[in-house]
Amino acid sequence: MRALLMERFGGPLTVREVPDPTPAPDGVVVAVGASGVCRSDWHAWSGHDSDVVLPHVPGHELAGTVAAVGDRVRRWSVGDRVTVPFVCACGVCAPCREGQHQVCLHQTQPGFTHWGSFAELVALDAADVNLVALPDSLSFTTAAALGCRFATAFRAVTGVGRVAAGEWVAVIGCGGVGLSAVQVAVAVGARVVAVDPSPGARGLATAMGAEHVLADPAAVVEVTGGGAHVGLDCLGSPDTCVASIRSLRPRGRHVQVGLLPPELGRPEVPMDLVVARELAVLGSHGMAAHDYPAMLSLIGAGRLRPQDLVTRELTLDEAGAALVEVGRAPGVAVVTSF
Ligand SMILES: [Zn+2]
Ligand SMILES: [Zn+2]
Repeated sequence: MRALLMERFGGPLTVREVPDPTPAPDGVVVAVGASGVCRSDWHAWSGHDSDVVLPHVPGHELAGTVAAVGDRVRRWSVGDRVTVPFVCACGVCAPCREGQHQVCLHQTQPGFTHWGSFAELVALDAADVNLVALPDSLSFTTAAALGCRFATAFRAVTGVGRVAAGEWVAVIGCGGVGLSAVQVAVAVGARVVAVDPSPGARGLATAMGAEHVLADPAAVVEVTGGGAHVGLDCLGSPDTCVASIRSLRPRGRHVQVGLLPPELGRPEVPMDLVVARELAVLGSHGMAAHDYPAMLSLIGAGRLRPQDLVTRELTLDEAGAALVEVGRAPGVAVVTSF
C-alpha cells in the first residue's frame, strides 16, 4: 500500500510503498476513505509522543470501509462504512467497564501506538468495542473530522463542561477543535466568545455562530459581564490554558481540551484563583464509541454541521506539507485521495 512515512522526528514525510497491514484476531483493516490533518499529528511528528516508534505512519482522524476482519470480530463485515475514536479502548479494563473508554488503561491510538491512516489501509484493534457505523448520508470527508476534533469538542462541551443553554462559553484557540467547540456550544444554546490571534480563524468562528470574537483573551471577562461560565483551552499551550482559567467567573469550569505535552512547557495554573473563585479544572480526552449516536443524530438533524469545518481536500502526496504547517491555514484539511 501507499503510506506517508516518517523516518525521523521533525524530518521529511514521504509517500512510500509499504507492506499491507493484516487484522489482529479482534481487529479489522479499513480501506481509508478520508483522513483529517490534526495538531496531534504535528505533535507525533515533532517527537512529543513517547508512544511513537520510527519508522511511523501518522494519521488518526479516519473514515473508510472495512476491508478485512479478524477471526474473533462479531459485529463487523467487509464493506461496512465506519469511523473510530482516536482512543481505541480495550473494552475490559476498569475504566472501560465503567463506560469510560476514552481513558482506557490499555488504549491503542492509530497514528501513535501503531501505524495510522495517512495510508491506503489502516489496522484497528478491538473492532467490536471501537468501530462506529456511519450513516450513508455522512460522507467519509465529513466523518474523518469526527474521530478526534469534532467528537472531542462535543464531549468537552456537553459531557465534561456540561454547558447549559444561556451560559457564556469562552473558546480559546480556534483551530479544528476550537471551531468544533464553537459550533457545539452554539447548538446547545450557549453564548460563545471565541479567541484566536488569526483573523481567518476568527472569521470562521463568527460563521460557526460565535457572538464575540477576540484577538486577546483578557477581554473575555468584560464582554461576558463578569467572566465565562465555561472556558475551553482548545489549542493546548501554557498561555491558552491560563487564559481560559483567568476568563472564568466564580464557580466557572475550565476544560483542558488541547494536548499539553511537557515539551511545550508547564502552565502556571493560578491556583489562588481556583480556590478563591471555586473554579473547576477538568480534562477531556476524546469520546467513547458508544457516545457517538447522540452526536450523529444531531448531525443527521442538521443541528451540527462538521462538514462546514472542512476547508481543504488534499491528496496523500500533499499530506506531509499540510501536517508540518498545521494551524497556519484556518479550518480543517482532510486527505481524500490516496
Ligand atoms: Zn480499557
Ligand atoms: Zn486529532
